[in-house]
Amino acid sequence: MQTISILGSTGSIGTQALQLVALHPDRFRVVAMTGHRNRELFFEQVRQFRPEMAGLTEPIPMEEIPADLRFCRWVMGKEALHVAAAEVPADMVLVSVVGIAGLQSVMDALQANRQVLLANKEALVTGGHLVMDAARRIGKPLLPVDSEHSAIFQCLQGAGPNKPERLILTASGGPFRTWEPKDIMLATKEQALKHPNWSMGRKITIDSASMMNKALEVIEARWLFDMPAEKIDVLIHPQSVIHSMVEFEDGAVMAQLGTPDMRLPILYAMSWPERLATGGARLDFAAMKALTFEQPDLTRFPGLGLAYEALKAGGTMSAILNGANEIAVDAFLHDRIRFGQIAQLVEETMHAVPVVYHATLDQVFESDRMARAKAQELLKTSRFAV
Ligand code: NDP
Ligand code: MG
Repeated sequence: MQTISILGSTGSIGTQALQLVALHPDRFRVVAMTGHRNRELFFEQVRQFRPEMAGLTEPIPMEEIPADLRFCRWVMGKEALHVAAAEVPADMVLVSVVGIAGLQSVMDALQANRQVLLANKEALVTGGHLVMDAARRIGKPLLPVDSEHSAIFQCLQGAGPNKPERLILTASGGPFRTWEPKDIMLATKEQALKHPNWSMGRKITIDSASMMNKALEVIEARWLFDMPAEKIDVLIHPQSVIHSMVEFEDGAVMAQLGTPDMRLPILYAMSWPERLATGGARLDFAAMKALTFEQPDLTRFPGLGLAYEALKAGGTMSAILNGANEIAVDAFLHDRIRFGQIAQLVEETMHAVPVVYHATLDQVFESDRMARAKAQELLKTSRFAV
């Protein structure tokens, strides 16, 4: 029996993780969980999973907690993340909150010597050097949940002492893969929120449509697998069957395949190094028509190029990219900019905010704050009027 704290239990990843706990009640027990705004769902989850600690990062008065749920310790506000990550004893901490809030939580969990299961991308994108240093110090691998990184991690389990020569991150290409750039510029929210293969939270779904998601994943991979940017390729693979690949010195390529179902990478991180049943569908090779591949088109998806630019610049440039992108996605979802302006706003912010090298955690947060402020300022200029 292993105990798990789930940060962001009400999200797409969080709810699937809870389904997996329910599927394997003899293997996992939830000891702490946090939600943010979706308090009705969160209450239901607490009722079902009966953790020792529960918290809402968007605080509510204690009187609003249903009487039958007062059996556990309740913590409100940001403190909830800290308590769930580092105070409640747990064998593992799943960080599945969205946004830069994940960085502090990952650092807290690592400093408390916890095994971290990492869904949140922003932690590695913004504070990769700090997170990897902290993970090395405790000597436990950071177990990736993101499907591409899980695929690479799974491939490397069979690689022995051999270091990969190249990582190949696959990408579905999202809903606009074949659209003309002028049409992508004007894409609506409804079109951008309709992902062809994966069902995910709103932020990451928009990022998938702009391929900014793949940009963030390139940066994640750089840190997680200690690979220079020029050895990380992105390959469009619209069927999302191959979840990523690793190439070795002798030219051998290892890949991990499966249906597009996040339960597999989530459960693999939870049960590693073992594999457990997910309850998901199996691949049917005979029913598959073709697996196809294409080079990503940077004129359609300029956001992807910005990842390489950020890694080349180094320092806090990736945090600046991430902060600006969070503002840009939010502005798009609130009809303040056009879809095609997301990457434009990110790029302009990257060129306007000073980069800090060898940043401390506080300096990363400061770069993030400056990027958000600059992006907000740029949004007010006439170039970004809808
Ligand atoms: P969702 O938007 O579905 O869920 C986000 C979770 O974080 C919810 O529990 C939400 O609470 C909570 N939350 C929102 N804002 C805050 C905040 N400011 N502080 C603390 N908690 C907050 O996102 P996903 O589950 O899709 O994604 C979570 C992370 O995992 C992201 O970083 C994403 O990039 C990454 N990821 C997701 C994948 C997926 O398939 N969904 C795949 C790979 C990576 P509430 O809903 O109660 O407001
Ligand atoms: Mg992914």
